[in-house]
Amino acid sequence: MTSDSPHQIEVGGRTIPSGEKSQFRYAVATTFHDDAIELPVTVVNGDQAGPTVCLTAAVHGDELNGVKIIQEVAAEYEPSDLHGTLVCLHVLNVPGFLAQQRYIPIYDEDLNRSFPGSARSTLAKRLANTIYEEFISKCDIGLDFHTSTRNRTTMYHVRADMRDPAVERLARAFGTSVILDGEGSRGTLRHVACQDGIPTVTVEMGRAHRFQTAHLDRALHCVASVLAEHEVLPNQPVSWPGWTRVVARDGEKTWLRAETGGLVEMEWGPHPLVEEDEPLFTISDHFKNDIETIRAPSTGIVVGVLENAVAYPGHPLCHFVSVDEGTADIIRDDIERGVFDVYREGGFQWPEPRWYAHHEHETDSTHSENTHDTERENRDD
Ligand SMILES: [Zn+2]
Repeated sequence: MTSDSPHQIEVGGRTIPSGEKSQFRYAVATTFHDDAIELPVTVVNGDQAGPTVCLTAAVHGDELNGVKIIQEVAAEYEPSDLHGTLVCLHVLNVPGFLAQQRYIPIYDEDLNRSFPGSARSTLAKRLANTIYEEFISKCDIGLDFHTSTRNRTTMYHVRADMRDPAVERLARAFGTSVILDGEGSRGTLRHVACQDGIPTVTVEMGRAHRFQTAHLDRALHCVASVLAEHEVLPNQPVSWPGWTRVVARDGEKTWLRAETGGLVEMEWGPHPLVEEDEPLFTISDHFKNDIETIRAPSTGIVVGVLENAVAYPGHPLCHFVSVDEGTADIIRDDIERGVFDVYREGGFQWPEPRWYAHHEHETDSTHSENTHDTERENRDD
Protein backbone atom coordinates (compact mmCIF):
# COMPACT_ATOMS: atom_id res chain seq x y z
CA MET A 1 0.00 0.00 0.00
CA THR A 2 0.97 3.61 -0.33
CA SER A 3 3.56 4.63 2.21
CA ASP A 4 4.94 7.96 3.29
CA SER A 5 8.36 9.06 2.22
CA PRO A 6 10.86 7.62 1.95
CA HIS A 7 8.49 5.41 0.02
CA GLN A 8 10.37 2.24 -0.65
CA ILE A 9 8.34 -0.72 -1.83
CA GLU A 10 8.88 -4.34 -0.91
CA VAL A 11 7.82 -6.77 -3.62
CA GLY A 12 9.15 -10.08 -4.85
CA GLY A 13 11.45 -10.44 -1.87
CA ARG A 14 13.35 -7.22 -2.48
CA THR A 15 13.20 -3.62 -1.43
CA ILE A 16 13.09 -0.99 -4.13
CA PRO A 17 13.72 2.57 -2.94
CA SER A 18 12.04 5.63 -4.34
CA GLY A 19 13.61 6.87 -7.55
CA GLU A 20 14.67 3.42 -8.69
CA LYS A 21 13.62 1.27 -11.64
CA SER A 22 14.23 -2.42 -11.12
CA GLN A 23 13.90 -5.24 -13.65
CA PHE A 24 14.30 -8.80 -12.48
CA ARG A 25 12.99 -12.34 -12.70
CA TYR A 26 11.27 -13.77 -9.67
CA ALA A 27 11.26 -17.57 -9.19
CA VAL A 28 7.73 -18.70 -8.35
CA ALA A 29 8.04 -22.50 -8.68
CA THR A 30 9.97 -25.23 -10.51
CA THR A 31 8.98 -27.51 -13.38
CA PHE A 32 9.13 -31.32 -13.27
CA HIS A 33 12.37 -30.88 -15.24
CA ASP A 34 13.78 -28.95 -12.30
CA ASP A 35 13.87 -25.63 -14.13
CA ALA A 36 12.89 -22.48 -12.34
CA ILE A 37 9.59 -20.89 -13.38
CA GLU A 38 10.47 -17.20 -13.33
CA LEU A 39 8.17 -14.21 -13.59
CA PRO A 40 9.59 -11.21 -15.47
CA VAL A 41 8.99 -8.13 -13.31
CA THR A 42 9.56 -4.40 -13.71
CA VAL A 43 9.08 -2.07 -10.77
CA VAL A 44 9.26 1.66 -11.41
CA ASN A 45 9.24 3.42 -8.07
CA GLY A 46 8.62 7.11 -8.61
CA ASP A 47 10.67 9.97 -7.23
CA GLN A 48 7.47 11.15 -5.53
CA ALA A 49 5.11 9.10 -3.36
CA GLY A 50 1.68 8.02 -4.62
CA PRO A 51 -0.44 4.97 -5.38
CA THR A 52 1.05 1.63 -6.41
CA VAL A 53 -0.44 0.42 -9.68
CA CYS A 54 -0.24 -3.25 -10.64
CA LEU A 55 -0.26 -4.22 -14.33
CA THR A 56 -0.60 -7.90 -15.18
CA ALA A 57 -0.74 -9.90 -18.43
CA ALA A 58 -0.90 -13.44 -19.74
CA VAL A 59 -2.66 -15.03 -16.79
CA HIS A 60 -3.92 -16.93 -19.82
CA GLY A 61 -0.69 -17.92 -21.54
CA ASP A 62 -1.72 -17.28 -25.16
CA GLU A 63 -3.19 -13.79 -24.63
CA LEU A 64 -0.33 -11.68 -25.93
CA ASN A 65 -1.59 -8.14 -26.48
CA GLY A 66 -1.16 -7.42 -22.76
CA VAL A 67 2.40 -8.76 -22.78
CA LYS A 68 3.31 -6.13 -25.37
CA ILE A 69 1.45 -3.39 -23.49
CA ILE A 70 3.38 -4.15 -20.32
CA GLN A 71 6.68 -4.32 -22.18
CA GLU A 72 5.99 -0.83 -23.55
CA VAL A 73 4.75 0.62 -20.24
CA ALA A 74 7.78 -0.80 -18.41
CA ALA A 75 10.12 0.74 -20.98
CA GLU A 76 8.33 4.08 -21.21
CA TYR A 77 8.07 5.26 -17.61
CA GLU A 78 10.95 6.39 -15.43
CA PRO A 79 10.93 7.20 -11.72
CA SER A 80 11.15 10.92 -12.51
CA ASP A 81 7.78 10.71 -14.29
CA LEU A 82 5.83 9.20 -11.41
CA HIS A 83 4.10 10.16 -8.19
CA GLY A 84 3.68 6.54 -7.20
CA THR A 85 4.86 3.14 -8.29
CA LEU A 86 4.27 0.77 -11.20
CA VAL A 87 4.50 -2.94 -10.55
CA CYS A 88 4.56 -4.63 -13.97
CA LEU A 89 4.15 -8.40 -14.06
CA HIS A 90 4.90 -9.12 -17.71
CA VAL A 91 3.69 -12.75 -17.82
CA LEU A 92 1.76 -14.44 -14.99
CA ASN A 93 1.20 -17.89 -16.46
CA VAL A 94 4.77 -18.64 -17.53
CA PRO A 95 4.19 -22.38 -18.29
CA GLY A 96 1.16 -21.49 -20.46
CA PHE A 97 3.10 -18.69 -22.15
CA LEU A 98 5.94 -21.07 -23.05
CA ALA A 99 3.47 -23.57 -24.48
CA GLN A 100 1.41 -20.77 -26.08
CA GLN A 101 -1.78 -22.04 -24.53
CA ARG A 102 -4.44 -20.60 -22.28
CA TYR A 103 -4.14 -22.98 -19.34
CA ILE A 104 -1.19 -24.29 -17.37
CA PRO A 105 -0.04 -27.31 -19.43
CA ILE A 106 -0.60 -30.99 -18.65
CA TYR A 107 -3.46 -30.66 -16.17
CA ASP A 108 -5.03 -27.66 -17.89
CA GLU A 109 -5.52 -25.63 -14.75
CA ASP A 110 -6.88 -22.12 -15.17
CA LEU A 111 -4.59 -19.77 -13.27
CA ASN A 112 -7.34 -17.15 -13.42
CA ARG A 113 -9.68 -19.34 -11.36
CA SER A 114 -7.00 -20.09 -8.76
CA PHE A 115 -6.63 -16.82 -6.82
CA PRO A 116 -5.87 -16.11 -4.04
CA GLY A 117 -4.27 -19.54 -4.20
CA SER A 118 -2.68 -21.75 -1.61
CA ALA A 119 0.90 -22.62 -0.72
CA ARG A 120 -0.03 -26.29 -0.24
CA SER A 121 -2.14 -27.11 -3.26
CA THR A 122 -1.77 -27.54 -7.04
CA LEU A 123 0.77 -25.72 -9.19
CA ALA A 124 -1.90 -23.24 -10.28
CA LYS A 125 -2.82 -22.44 -6.69
CA ARG A 126 0.80 -22.18 -5.62
CA LEU A 127 1.58 -19.82 -8.48
CA ALA A 128 -1.50 -17.76 -7.68
CA ASN A 129 -0.64 -17.66 -4.01
CA THR A 130 2.94 -16.50 -4.56
CA ILE A 131 1.95 -13.92 -7.17
CA TYR A 132 -0.82 -12.61 -4.95
CA GLU A 133 1.19 -12.46 -1.74
CA GLU A 134 4.43 -11.14 -3.19
CA PHE A 135 3.05 -8.59 -5.62
CA ILE A 136 -0.67 -7.96 -5.98
CA SER A 137 -1.48 -7.62 -2.28
CA LYS A 138 1.11 -4.82 -2.08
CA CYS A 139 -0.62 -2.68 -4.70
CA ASP A 140 -3.44 -0.12 -4.54
CA ILE A 141 -5.11 -0.60 -7.94
CA GLY A 142 -4.81 -3.14 -10.75
CA LEU A 143 -5.19 -3.53 -14.52
CA ASP A 144 -5.30 -7.14 -15.76
CA PHE A 145 -4.91 -7.47 -19.54
CA HIS A 146 -6.65 -10.20 -21.52
CA THR A 147 -7.73 -11.02 -25.06
CA SER A 148 -10.55 -13.18 -26.30
CA THR A 149 -9.99 -16.89 -26.13
CA ARG A 150 -8.80 -18.89 -29.18
CA ASN A 151 -11.21 -18.84 -32.16
CA ARG A 152 -12.93 -15.70 -30.97
CA THR A 153 -12.26 -12.00 -31.09
CA THR A 154 -13.59 -9.19 -28.98
CA MET A 155 -13.81 -5.44 -29.16
CA TYR A 156 -11.78 -3.35 -26.81
CA HIS A 157 -13.65 -3.24 -23.49
CA VAL A 158 -13.36 -3.35 -19.72
CA ARG A 159 -15.00 -5.68 -17.21
CA ALA A 160 -15.54 -4.10 -13.82
CA ASP A 161 -17.69 -4.31 -10.70
CA MET A 162 -19.41 -0.96 -11.17
CA ARG A 163 -21.13 -1.17 -7.76
CA ASP A 164 -17.77 -0.33 -6.19
CA PRO A 165 -17.10 3.41 -6.65
CA ALA A 166 -13.32 2.94 -6.68
CA VAL A 167 -13.60 0.26 -9.36
CA GLU A 168 -16.01 2.44 -11.34
CA ARG A 169 -13.54 5.33 -11.15
CA LEU A 170 -10.79 3.07 -12.49
CA ALA A 171 -12.99 1.64 -15.27
CA ARG A 172 -14.16 5.05 -16.47
CA ALA A 173 -10.64 6.47 -16.34
CA PHE A 174 -9.44 3.64 -18.56
CA GLY A 175 -11.79 5.11 -21.13
CA THR A 176 -13.29 2.26 -23.15
CA SER A 177 -16.69 2.80 -24.75
CA VAL A 178 -18.05 -0.54 -23.55
CA ILE A 179 -17.90 -1.58 -19.90
CA LEU A 180 -19.32 -4.95 -18.82
CA ASP A 181 -20.52 -4.64 -15.26
CA GLY A 182 -20.00 -7.65 -13.04
CA GLU A 183 -17.82 -8.87 -10.21
CA GLY A 184 -16.11 -11.61 -12.25
CA SER A 185 -15.97 -15.32 -11.56
CA ARG A 186 -14.69 -16.67 -8.27
CA GLY A 187 -10.95 -17.22 -8.30
CA THR A 188 -10.22 -14.54 -10.87
CA LEU A 189 -7.45 -12.13 -10.03
CA ARG A 190 -9.76 -9.13 -10.20
CA HIS A 191 -12.53 -10.69 -8.10
CA VAL A 192 -10.11 -11.53 -5.29
CA ALA A 193 -8.22 -8.23 -5.50
CA CYS A 194 -11.47 -6.21 -5.43
CA GLN A 195 -12.72 -8.16 -2.42
CA ASP A 196 -9.43 -7.32 -0.75
CA GLY A 197 -9.93 -3.59 -1.35
CA ILE A 198 -7.59 -3.38 -4.35
CA PRO A 199 -9.79 -1.97 -7.15
CA THR A 200 -8.97 -3.97 -10.27
CA VAL A 201 -10.47 -4.23 -13.74
CA THR A 202 -10.05 -6.75 -16.55
CA VAL A 203 -9.20 -5.24 -19.92
CA GLU A 204 -10.23 -7.30 -22.96
CA MET A 205 -9.12 -6.76 -26.54
CA GLY A 206 -8.86 -8.63 -29.80
CA ARG A 207 -7.44 -12.03 -30.42
CA ALA A 208 -5.12 -14.46 -28.69
CA HIS A 209 -1.69 -15.17 -30.24
CA ARG A 210 -1.28 -11.72 -31.77
CA PHE A 211 0.05 -8.23 -31.23
CA GLN A 212 -2.65 -5.93 -32.64
CA THR A 213 -1.19 -2.51 -33.05
CA ALA A 214 -4.38 -0.41 -32.93
CA HIS A 215 -5.37 -2.05 -29.64
CA LEU A 216 -1.86 -1.58 -28.28
CA ASP A 217 -1.68 2.11 -29.21
CA ARG A 218 -4.99 2.76 -27.57
CA ALA A 219 -4.14 0.77 -24.45
CA LEU A 220 -1.03 2.87 -23.82
CA HIS A 221 -3.22 5.99 -23.85
CA CYS A 222 -5.65 4.28 -21.51
CA VAL A 223 -2.91 3.33 -19.05
CA ALA A 224 -1.71 6.94 -19.07
CA SER A 225 -5.29 8.05 -18.46
CA VAL A 226 -5.61 5.79 -15.40
CA LEU A 227 -2.30 7.10 -14.08
CA ALA A 228 -3.54 10.67 -14.62
CA GLU A 229 -6.88 10.02 -12.88
CA HIS A 230 -5.06 8.62 -9.83
CA GLU A 231 -2.47 11.40 -9.91
CA VAL A 232 0.45 9.11 -10.53
CA LEU A 233 0.91 11.38 -13.55
CA PRO A 234 -0.27 14.68 -12.08
CA ASN A 235 -1.58 17.39 -14.40
CA GLN A 236 -2.06 15.01 -17.29
CA PRO A 237 -5.42 14.62 -19.11
CA VAL A 238 -7.86 11.86 -18.31
CA SER A 239 -9.45 10.33 -21.37
CA TRP A 240 -13.09 10.01 -22.27
CA PRO A 241 -14.09 7.81 -25.20
CA GLY A 242 -16.94 9.94 -26.56
CA TRP A 243 -19.65 7.48 -25.59
CA THR A 244 -19.97 4.82 -22.94
CA ARG A 245 -22.29 1.87 -22.75
CA VAL A 246 -22.29 0.12 -19.39
CA VAL A 247 -23.74 -3.35 -19.87
CA ALA A 248 -25.49 -4.13 -16.60
CA ARG A 249 -25.28 -7.46 -14.88
CA ASP A 250 -28.92 -8.56 -15.16
CA GLY A 251 -31.48 -8.37 -17.92
CA GLU A 252 -31.55 -9.09 -21.60
CA LYS A 253 -29.47 -11.86 -23.12
CA THR A 254 -26.49 -10.61 -25.12
CA TRP A 255 -24.94 -13.76 -26.60
CA LEU A 256 -26.68 -14.79 -29.81
CA ARG A 257 -26.49 -18.51 -30.48
CA ALA A 258 -26.78 -20.81 -33.46
CA GLU A 259 -30.07 -22.73 -33.43
CA THR A 260 -28.88 -25.19 -36.05
CA GLY A 261 -25.35 -26.45 -36.56
CA GLY A 262 -23.50 -25.83 -39.79
CA LEU A 263 -21.14 -23.61 -41.73
CA VAL A 264 -21.05 -20.04 -40.49
CA GLU A 265 -20.67 -16.93 -42.63
CA MET A 266 -20.45 -13.40 -41.27
CA GLU A 267 -22.88 -11.00 -42.91
CA TRP A 268 -22.46 -7.96 -40.68
CA GLY A 269 -19.96 -5.20 -41.03
CA PRO A 270 -17.54 -3.85 -41.91
CA HIS A 271 -18.51 -1.55 -39.00
CA PRO A 272 -19.51 -2.59 -35.48
CA LEU A 273 -22.93 -0.89 -35.58
CA VAL A 274 -25.85 -2.92 -36.92
CA GLU A 275 -29.47 -1.85 -37.29
CA GLU A 276 -32.40 -3.85 -35.98
CA ASP A 277 -33.17 -6.92 -38.11
CA GLU A 278 -29.98 -6.64 -40.14
CA PRO A 279 -28.46 -10.08 -40.84
CA LEU A 280 -25.45 -10.89 -38.66
CA PHE A 281 -24.66 -14.48 -39.68
CA THR A 282 -25.95 -17.25 -41.85
CA ILE A 283 -25.57 -20.91 -40.99
CA SER A 284 -25.96 -23.43 -43.78
CA ASP A 285 -25.68 -27.17 -44.34
CA HIS A 286 -23.38 -28.63 -47.00
CA PHE A 287 -26.15 -28.73 -49.61
CA LYS A 288 -27.49 -25.22 -48.92
CA ASN A 289 -30.91 -26.74 -48.27
CA ASP A 290 -31.22 -25.22 -44.80
CA ILE A 291 -30.00 -21.70 -44.26
CA GLU A 292 -30.55 -20.06 -40.89
CA THR A 293 -30.12 -16.30 -40.67
CA ILE A 294 -29.28 -14.74 -37.31
CA ARG A 295 -30.50 -11.14 -37.22
CA ALA A 296 -29.79 -8.21 -34.93
CA PRO A 297 -32.51 -8.11 -32.24
CA SER A 298 -32.18 -4.31 -32.06
CA THR A 299 -29.82 -1.53 -33.08
CA GLY A 300 -26.55 -2.38 -31.41
CA ILE A 301 -22.89 -3.20 -31.64
CA VAL A 302 -21.03 -6.42 -32.27
CA VAL A 303 -18.74 -6.73 -29.26
CA GLY A 304 -17.37 -10.20 -29.91
CA VAL A 305 -17.70 -13.05 -32.40
CA LEU A 306 -16.80 -16.63 -33.00
CA GLU A 307 -14.06 -16.71 -35.64
CA ASN A 308 -14.23 -20.40 -36.32
CA ALA A 309 -16.44 -20.94 -39.37
CA VAL A 310 -18.34 -23.93 -38.02
CA ALA A 311 -20.81 -24.10 -35.15
CA TYR A 312 -22.78 -26.72 -33.27
CA PRO A 313 -26.41 -26.03 -32.35
CA GLY A 314 -26.43 -23.72 -29.35
CA HIS A 315 -22.92 -22.44 -29.92
CA PRO A 316 -22.49 -18.75 -29.00
CA LEU A 317 -21.82 -16.87 -32.23
CA CYS A 318 -21.93 -13.21 -31.36
CA HIS A 319 -21.75 -11.01 -28.32
CA PHE A 320 -24.24 -8.31 -29.16
CA VAL A 321 -25.01 -5.20 -27.10
CA SER A 322 -27.91 -2.89 -27.90
CA VAL A 323 -27.33 0.87 -27.90
CA ASP A 324 -29.74 3.77 -27.64
CA GLU A 325 -30.31 6.17 -30.52
CA GLY A 326 -28.07 8.90 -29.09
CA THR A 327 -25.14 6.51 -28.87
CA ALA A 328 -25.94 5.02 -32.29
CA ASP A 329 -25.81 8.53 -33.80
CA ILE A 330 -22.33 9.13 -32.41
CA ILE A 331 -21.17 5.79 -33.83
CA ARG A 332 -22.80 6.60 -37.20
CA ASP A 333 -20.84 9.87 -37.29
CA ASP A 334 -17.65 7.95 -36.56
CA ILE A 335 -18.44 5.50 -39.34
CA GLU A 336 -18.93 8.36 -41.78
CA ARG A 337 -15.57 9.74 -40.78
CA GLY A 338 -13.96 6.40 -41.56
CA VAL A 339 -13.04 5.69 -37.96
CA PHE A 340 -14.20 2.06 -38.17
CA ASP A 341 -13.08 1.24 -41.70
CA VAL A 342 -10.90 -1.69 -40.66
CA TYR A 343 -13.03 -2.91 -37.79
CA ARG A 344 -14.17 -6.29 -39.06
CA GLU A 345 -11.26 -7.09 -41.35
CA GLY A 346 -8.79 -5.90 -38.74
CA GLY A 347 -10.01 -8.32 -36.09
CA PHE A 348 -12.00 -5.69 -34.19
CA GLN A 349 -9.11 -3.31 -34.21
CA TRP A 350 -10.27 -0.15 -32.59
CA PRO A 351 -9.30 3.09 -34.36
CA GLU A 352 -6.41 5.27 -33.35
CA PRO A 353 -7.05 7.13 -30.11
CA ARG A 354 -8.91 10.29 -30.91
CA TRP A 355 -10.98 11.29 -27.90
CA TYR A 356 -8.22 12.09 -25.54
CA ALA A 357 -8.49 15.84 -25.24
CA HIS A 358 -9.97 16.26 -21.79
CA HIS A 359 -12.17 14.89 -19.10
CA GLU A 360 -15.79 15.80 -19.72
CA HIS A 361 -17.85 12.75 -18.92
CA GLU A 362 -19.48 14.41 -15.91
CA THR A 363 -21.55 16.48 -18.32
CA ASP A 364 -21.92 14.10 -21.22
CA SER A 365 -25.52 13.41 -22.14
CA THR A 366 -24.85 10.35 -24.24
CA HIS A 367 -23.85 8.27 -21.28
CA SER A 368 -26.12 5.27 -21.55
CA GLU A 369 -26.82 3.12 -18.54
CA ASN A 370 -29.18 0.62 -20.11
CA THR A 371 -30.04 -2.33 -17.98
CA HIS A 372 -29.14 -5.15 -20.23
CA ASP A 373 -27.61 -8.36 -19.39
CA THR A 374 -24.42 -10.11 -19.69
CA GLU A 375 -25.03 -13.71 -20.24
CA ARG A 376 -21.51 -14.09 -21.41
CA GLU A 377 -18.96 -16.72 -21.70
CA ASN A 378 -16.65 -16.36 -18.77
CA ARG A 379 -13.85 -17.91 -20.76
CA ASP A 380 -12.86 -14.45 -21.94
CA ASP A 381 -12.21 -13.19 -18.45
ZN1 LIG B 1 -7.97 -14.21 -20.49
